[in-house]
This record gives sequence, C-alpha cells and structure tokens, in this order.
Amino acid sequence: KQAQAQRLLAGLNPQQAQAVQYQGPALLIAAGAGSGKTRVLTRRIAWVMSQWNAWPSQILAITFTNKAAAEMRERLTKLVGSQRAERLWVSTFHSACVRILRRFTHEAGLKSNFTIYDQQDQLRLLKLIETDFNIDVKKYKPRQFSSKISDWKNSLQGAQEVLQTLAPSFTPGVAGTHITGHEKQPELEAMVYGEYQCRLAAANAVDFDDLIMKTVDLLNTSQEAADFYHKRLHYVLVDEYQDTNRAQYEFLRLIAGYEGFAVKRPAWISVVGDSDQSIYAFRGADISNILDFENDFPHAKTILLEQNYRSTQNILDAANAVIAKNEGRKPKKLWTSEGSGDKIIGYAADDARGEARFVTEEIARIRTEENIPYSDVAIMYRTNAQSRLMEEQLVAAGIPYLIVGGTRFYERAEIKNALAYLHALLNPADDISLRRILNEPRRGIGAKTELDVANFAQAHSMSFWEALSHLDEIGLSAAPVKHLRQFVDLMQSMMDSVTGDGVLPSTAIHVMLENSGLVAQYRASQDVEDQSRLENLGQLETVAKEYEANEVNPTLDGFLEQTALVADSDQLPDGDSGRVTLMTLHTAKGLEYPVVFLTGMEEGTFPSARALAGDNDAPDASTNQLEEERRLAYVGITRARKRLYITRAGIRSQWGQAQEMPPSRFLDEIPAQLIDWRREFTATENVRSNGGWGSDNFGDDFDSDFSATSAFGTDEEGFSYGGRSSFGSRYSRSYGSGSFGARSSFGSRDSYG
Ligand code: ATP
Ligand code: MG
Repeated sequence: KQAQAQRLLAGLNPQQAQAVQYQGPALLIAAGAGSGKTRVLTRRIAWVMSQWNAWPSQILAITFTNKAAAEMRERLTKLVGSQRAERLWVSTFHSACVRILRRFTHEAGLKSNFTIYDQQDQLRLLKLIETDFNIDVKKYKPRQFSSKISDWKNSLQGAQEVLQTLAPSFTPGVAGTHITGHEKQPELEAMVYGEYQCRLAAANAVDFDDLIMKTVDLLNTSQEAADFYHKRLHYVLVDEYQDTNRAQYEFLRLIAGYEGFAVKRPAWISVVGDSDQSIYAFRGADISNILDFENDFPHAKTILLEQNYRSTQNILDAANAVIAKNEGRKPKKLWTSEGSGDKIIGYAADDARGEARFVTEEIARIRTEENIPYSDVAIMYRTNAQSRLMEEQLVAAGIPYLIVGGTRFYERAEIKNALAYLHALLNPADDISLRRILNEPRRGIGAKTELDVANFAQAHSMSFWEALSHLDEIGLSAAPVKHLRQFVDLMQSMMDSVTGDGVLPSTAIHVMLENSGLVAQYRASQDVEDQSRLENLGQLETVAKEYEANEVNPTLDGFLEQTALVADSDQLPDGDSGRVTLMTLHTAKGLEYPVVFLTGMEEGTFPSARALAGDNDAPDASTNQLEEERRLAYVGITRARKRLYITRAGIRSQWGQAQEMPPSRFLDEIPAQLIDWRREFTATENVRSNGGWGSDNFGDDFDSDFSATSAFGTDEEGFSYGGRSSFGSRYSRSYGSGSFGARSSFGSRDSYG
C-alpha cells in the first residue's frame, strides 16, 4: 500500500498531490489547459481504491466522450490492474443514464426493451406530427422543433410544464383537434413537444435528451432507485465539468445525494474543469455550473493547478494573451518550467488552397528534416468543411491522414447524396445512385415501396428508373404512386436543366442542390452539424468552380470522374509512422499533439460568421458567441505541445464564391514577438502586394494557385454568410470594391465575373 501510494504520487507537483489525496465531500480542481486535471482525476480514482479501500463499484467517473472514457480506463488498468479497472463505472452521461434506465425501467415509466431514437427517427416522428397537425413543414422545419425540444429537455422543462404555460388548453394524443392554424410559434412548439412526448411514450421510445431527463425524474421520484445508487456510490468524479448543462448538473446532484431523497451522507464529489474551455453553450452547457461550484456544494474545496506540463512557454503566452481578452473571468496564467521553446510559426497564404499546400509541404518537410512522425501532427479547423482542401493536398502529397469525429469529404453522407443525384441525372440506369436518393431528402417513399418497384424491375428485366415509368402496373397503392410520380417529375425536370450541352458543372450542381431539396432541409436548422453539412454542400460547388477554372472543356461527366478518383486514392496504405490527424476544434478538447496546425485563422471562418453576426454585447457570458469562439481558440492553441502553426488564407471560397478574408482577431491578440511570420500581409496589402507575387515563393506555380481564386463572384454581398456588415467598420476598408478591381489586373477575371 505504501509503495502503491508512492507510485500514485510520483511525479506530481504539490497541488496535484494534494488534489489526489484530498479528503472531503466536494472538490473542485480548477485549472487551465494542460495542467494535469485529467491526470489528477485518474490518479485520484486509483488512490480512492488503493488507499481508502473503496470497491470499484462504489465509484462513478464521468467523461465527456466515449473515447475519453476508454482512455481513462486504459490508464487505470496500468495503475490498479485490469481486474479492478474493468469493474469501474467510467462512462459518459448518456451511457450512465442508459444503464440506470435499463435497471429501473418500470420505475422510470418505461417498458422493458425501450428503444432509443436517434436524430433521424426523431425527425421522422416530428414530421409525422406536423403532417397530422397540418403544420407547414416548409415554414416550420422538423429540425427547428427538435432543437427547441432539446433546449427544453437540457434545461429540464418537461412537456407538461411547457404546455401549461404556453398552450394550456391543448391535450396531446388527440391528433389535430386543437390546431386552428392561428397559433403563435411558441404555442405551436409547445403543442408539438407535448404530442411528441406522447407518441414517444406510445412507441416505448426515448430520445437522447430524454435519457438524462428521465433519469433525473427517476432519481427524484423513485425511492428505490435513489436508495440503490446512494447506498452503492461513495465517489463521483467528473471531467470537463465546465461543459455540463442543467440536466447533467441535476443528475450529478441527485445521484450523489445532494438533492432528492434524504441521505445520511452524500457521495464525495470531485469535478475538474476549466471555465476558459467551455465550448458547448450551443448544447445548453452552463458555465455557471463550474463558477458556482463552491456555492452549490457545501464545504467545497477548490484546488488550483498552475503549472502546465503540456506546452512550451511561447505557446502558453499566446494562449494567455488570447483568453485574457474575455471579460469577467478569473485571471489565471499558465506557465511551464520547460522553457520558451520554438516561436509560433505564422503563415498567410493567398488563398485556402495555398494554405493547405503550405501545411502539407511543412508536414513533409519536418518529417524529413526533423524526423517528426506524421502521428505527432494534428491539423485543426473550425468546421468540417475546411478539411476538404487539406485532404486534397494530403492525398496529392501521399501523406496518410485520419479524420477524427468526421468522415472524409467524399464519404460524407450529404456529399454522397449530392453526387448520387448527379450520377442518376446523367445516367438514370445507375440503380444504386437512383435508389440512394429515392427518399433523400425524405419524400414519403418507404422501403417497402422501393422493394416493390425493385422486384417489378427485376421481373421485367428493366432498370429501376424504367420501372418507374410503369407505375400503374406495379400494384402499389395510391400514396406511393403519387410520391414516386413526383420523384420522376422532379428528376425529369432536373435532367433538362442539368445535363444540357454547355451547362457548367457548378451550375448543374447549384440547380440540383436547390431543386432536389438537399440544401433546403438543412437551411432552417440551428444544429451545428446541419450547418456543417450545409457548408460541405457549399464546398462541392466550390470544388466544381475550381475544376472549371483548371479545365479547358469542363463537363459534368469529367467533374464526376475527378471526384471519383480523389475518393479512390483515399485508400492509402497505412504508413509505418502513422497518420496525420485532422479534426475540428470541438473534437480536440482534452487531446494533445507535439505539432499543431491551427488553420483558417480569419474573420468569418474563425471566429465564425455566425458568431460575428450574433449579439455579442449580451451581458450573459454564455450567450456571448464571440467569447465562446475565443475559448475555442484557447482550446486550440493549448493542444500543442512543442510547436504551433497558425495559418490563414487571404481568400476563401464557399458556395463557389471567393471571399477576401481579413485576419482573425485572435491573431492580433497574440503578442507579435511570439510569432515568426513566414509569410504575412494585411488584408489591404493583400490587394496592393499582388504586383509583387513574382518575388514570393508562390511565383513559380502562380497559375495553378490563381485558379483556385479566380472563381470570384462579382457580388460579394451575395455570399451565404450573409452578415457581412457584422464585421464592423474595423474591416470595411479592405472590402472596398477596389480590392476586387485590383484582381482584374491578372486578366482572367473577366471570364468569371
Ligand atoms: P485539458 O485542460 O486540455 O483537458 P488537463 O488539465 O486535463 O488538460 P492533462 O491532459 O491531464 O491536462 O495533462 C497534460 C499533459 O501533462 C499530459 O501529457 C500529462 O501526462 C502531463 N502531466 C500532467 N501532470 C504532470 C506532471 N506532474 N509531470 C509530468 N507530466 C505531467
Ligand atoms: Mg483534460
């Protein structure tokens, strides 16, 4: 035991060691990034078992992702052996709640074998309800309802309660009877919420948010369930506490015995977190949970960790300087004894492709010259759509990569759907593509109908598409026939405008995206995932414009062939030195890499255009989107251990429209002496310095580089980000039309203008 104690404290600083051993009911370990919070939490679990003789079953440890849970269990296996580590309850909030609801199903008001609805099921159900209620699904998207319902659930507002305040006369379960068509939006939302819960119950199903809310209900109302966990659990530990929402917070208080049924003594609760890393406000995360910990839990002890063990001082100074710009935070400074290390390397590329090329060339260079393996390198970006150009360059350079928490661009469902439309329009005999989009977006053509048509086609040896022109002979009922006929009409109308002679691929894609309903389904949504799906589809248009600029005789056929090739060359053999990792900043939370590329450091990319357009004077910190973006920047910078690259593009395209991008404000916030700019210009110089291109390192392949930028739209206001004006006067100068005029001196602009 003594030896074990020594082992568990080995290499910890005094504050860390204190946190591992602290004896008391409530402990908050608050500290900046890379200060060893997760390490301390892991050691504390081992400590509780080995020094205080706790059973593994008396401990509940909550992590933010399943990956983090697996990593923690792995480390604990090393510390206490696999026998004990296996029996530990290490999980996310969702999986913990599923386990509880499976054990106390009846007490929770569920029937055994209840189903968990995913997002798709959820939307299907909401759409059904909208139809029954005669709600215009164009005006009120199912996604709008689902995100509203999610907000309510995350803040623990049950359907009954919501109905009482917003639609007191409505009774769920009596479809349609109370809908007049004159309801105001909040009232309608409440009604749909009520009906939705009613039908979930009828289907013996729960959605993801229900998992937590129902567990909270259960622990509030079932003495048996509450007793079971109160007797059993002596220690509750939580990582990334800053990102808990209201429902998760209540869950913790209930299961630990701070609320609900009386207990002799609540479980000891230890949480770790960093208020500067709270980046999930859009999912209801409430930063005040961590800020108020000392008030919420009596006799709470706070231990601050100060020393950082991850990064060099230069990286930490940059992180400190950026996060210091957020208001109302407790000042804290990260420091390390490791020395200042390399300077941060900055690179401003002319355009997004130039940025991707710099990143790729630099990765190749440091591998050869500095022996840095691919697996030490991570490329981070604000949204998934940004990965496409990186991937292209990495593929071209033969560098193996891996995308965490995302699919490769051409494998993404929304992109595959779009390509399937194009394939089917060009070649309707392509059954696979046609059937993929038959009910995409959903248009009421079920699997059974599809099968009937497929059988008919097979029996008469015709293609699926041909079978669709014999609808009356297939023996389908009226509704499917109607939907199929609409589908055929839609495809036929698009064929005319998409596959005609001389139609540019980008035009074809645009028409297809608009008419097929592929983009419409995501537009109204507040969901960040949908937002990135939308951006990905926009990227597809951009790819097509690039293709057109490179090709003498651009055709849709040729374009599709090219995309197929890129997708194919994705299948790279695994290099013996691993792969470069690509991920969004949100997925990067808690992780670390020796070398990090922070890309797309531009106003409108990062911080995102949405955040720039938002209400950033809001007094409530959690609604201030710019501050949340800044926390995200802080998370990104602090992922780097040895070397940090920050890159930006002077021009970036989205929806086929090139935009001039001013440098991110976060770049300005990093002290200049910390950055070694390999290449830099200001937004205005960007334009002026064009004449000097021959002298910089892009002079050689000027042409190919320009091709990516030459797809200029002439209408800069028409860009999908919309809120251009939200950039404020600070940048307006560099957007003057003069800047676009200057481009035309390269001659080729006319052909695109
Ligand atoms: P984040 O806020 O990003 O989640 P964190 O505070 O959880 O970071 P850890 O991931 O636990 O930090 O630790 C950061 C790095 O520092 C890890 O590589 C960890 O192994 C190392 N580390 C932590 N404490 C020490 C220590 N006392 N001595 C040496 N290395 C340490
Ligand atoms: Mg951590």
